[in-house]
Amino acid sequence: MKQKFNRRAFIGMTAAAGAGLTLVGPQFVWAQQSEKPAILGGSKAYTSGFSAWPIYDETEEKALISVLKSGNWGRLNGPVVGGFEQAYAKLNGSGHCLGVSSGTAALTTILGALGIGPGDEVVIPVYTFIATYNVVVLNYALPILVDTDIETFQIDAKKAEAAVTAQTKAIMPVHIGGTPADIDAFLALGQKKGIPIIEDACQAHLAEWNGKKVGNFGLAGAFSFQSSKNLNCAEGGAILTNDADFASTCYTFHNQGQGGTGISYGTGSGTRATNLRLTEFQGNLLLAQMTRLQQQAKTRSENAKYLTELLSDIPGIEPAKWYPGTTQSAYHLYMFRYLKEHFNGLSRDKFVEALTAEGIPCSQGYGQMNRDAYVTGLASNPHYLRIYGEKTMQEWLERNQCPQNDKLTGEQSLWFFQTMLLGTRENMEQIATAIRKIQQYAKQIAKA
Ligand SMILES: *Cc1c(COP(=O)(O)O)cnc(C)c1O
Repeated sequence: MKQKFNRRAFIGMTAAAGAGLTLVGPQFVWAQQSEKPAILGGSKAYTSGFSAWPIYDETEEKALISVLKSGNWGRLNGPVVGGFEQAYAKLNGSGHCLGVSSGTAALTTILGALGIGPGDEVVIPVYTFIATYNVVVLNYALPILVDTDIETFQIDAKKAEAAVTAQTKAIMPVHIGGTPADIDAFLALGQKKGIPIIEDACQAHLAEWNGKKVGNFGLAGAFSFQSSKNLNCAEGGAILTNDADFASTCYTFHNQGQGGTGISYGTGSGTRATNLRLTEFQGNLLLAQMTRLQQQAKTRSENAKYLTELLSDIPGIEPAKWYPGTTQSAYHLYMFRYLKEHFNGLSRDKFVEALTAEGIPCSQGYGQMNRDAYVTGLASNPHYLRIYGEKTMQEWLERNQCPQNDKLTGEQSLWFFQTMLLGTRENMEQIATAIRKIQQYAKQIAKA
C-alpha cells in the first residue's frame, strides 16, 4: 500500500527533475505522511466551503421581472415556455420538448400518454429516487424493482430482462447520478420484447451516450428542474421525444385533454388527462439558468475526472464505473464505493464522520427501497389486493429481492454532490488528501 502511495510523488519528482520535460497529467504530489485527521484533532483538509446553489445574478432577476410585467404568467397566455421548449430541444438535439411542472410530472405525463393503468407492470431500478416508484403506483400499475449493477450503481440490464412478463407495458431505466444506464442493452431489450423504453433522465442533463444526449434514445426521456438538480427553476420538468405523435399526446395529457392553448372544454374533445403545465416565470428562469448550464457541466466534468484520477491512488475507493457507450456524465452525484477492508475495517459510518470533520460532506445515498415499509406495504394495499390478488402481491415481494443492491447500499455506497464539483482543482486535491489522511489513521479513528 505504501508503494502505491509513493508512486505519484515519484512521478512528480522525476518529472520536475528532468529539465525541459512537460509534465503530463496532474502535478499534485501526495505528502509522504499525512497530517493528523481533523477527527483526531488535526486541522481540516477542506476550509473554503462549497459552491452556493442556486447560482444567479441580474440575468435571473430580469427574467422574472419581465414575465411579471408582461402580465402573461401562464404558458397558455405567453410565448416563454414555448421558447424554452425550443431551446431545450435544440440543446439536446431532440425533435420535441414539452415543459411540465416537475420531473415527477414528466414521468406521470409519459405514463399517462402510454395509457398505463391497473394490471400493467413497469420495470424500474431499485436504486433510484422514490418518484420513479411513485409515478407507477399512482397509476395502480405494478412497479417491478430490478437489482443494481454494483460496479456502476445503475440498473442491471440482464436482470431487467428477466423481470419482463406479458404484463410489462414500459421499461424505465434511470440514469442515476447523471451517468447513463446501459442504453444499448435497454434499446435491444425494448426492441426484442416490443416494449417502450422510458428514460428517467431527471439527474442527467447533458449526459451523453456515444456522443448523443440522453433522453433521445427511448420513446421519451424525463428531466427534472427541481431545486437540487443541475438545471433548476425551483420546481419544473421536461419531456424529450423524437416521436411527433407521442409529443402531441403528452401535450394533451398535461393540458386537461386539450390540444393547442385551449383552456375551455368543448364536449367531445376530452381524453383522460390532468394539468401539469409549467409557468412563464419558470420558463424564463430556465432560459436564464441555461446560459450557465454548459459551463457548469464542463467544470463538474473536469473536476470529477481529476478527482477520479487522484482517488485511483487510494485503494478501497472505487468510483462508479461507466458502461462503454458513456461519453459524458452529468455528475449530478459523484458516486463511489467504500471498501472498508482497505481502511483497517473502519466502518462506513465512521469514515463519513471523519470526512465530515474534515469539512467535506458525504452521503450514504439511497437505501433499500424494496425493503422500505412504505414499499412492502403495497402488498397489503386494498386497491392492489383487489386488482392483483393476494397471490400475485406475495409473489411481487419475492420478485423484488435485490442482493447486489443490499450489499451496495448496506455497506459500500457513498456520494459527493454536484455543487462540490463546481469548485477548483485544489478542492479536489483537498478531498483526496482528506480521504488519504483517514486511510493512514484508520486504526486510530476506529478506536476514537
Ligand atoms: C428528482 C428526480 C425525479 C423527480 O423529479 P421532481 O422534479 O423532484 O419531481 C424523478 N426521478 C429521479 C431519478 C430524480 O432524481
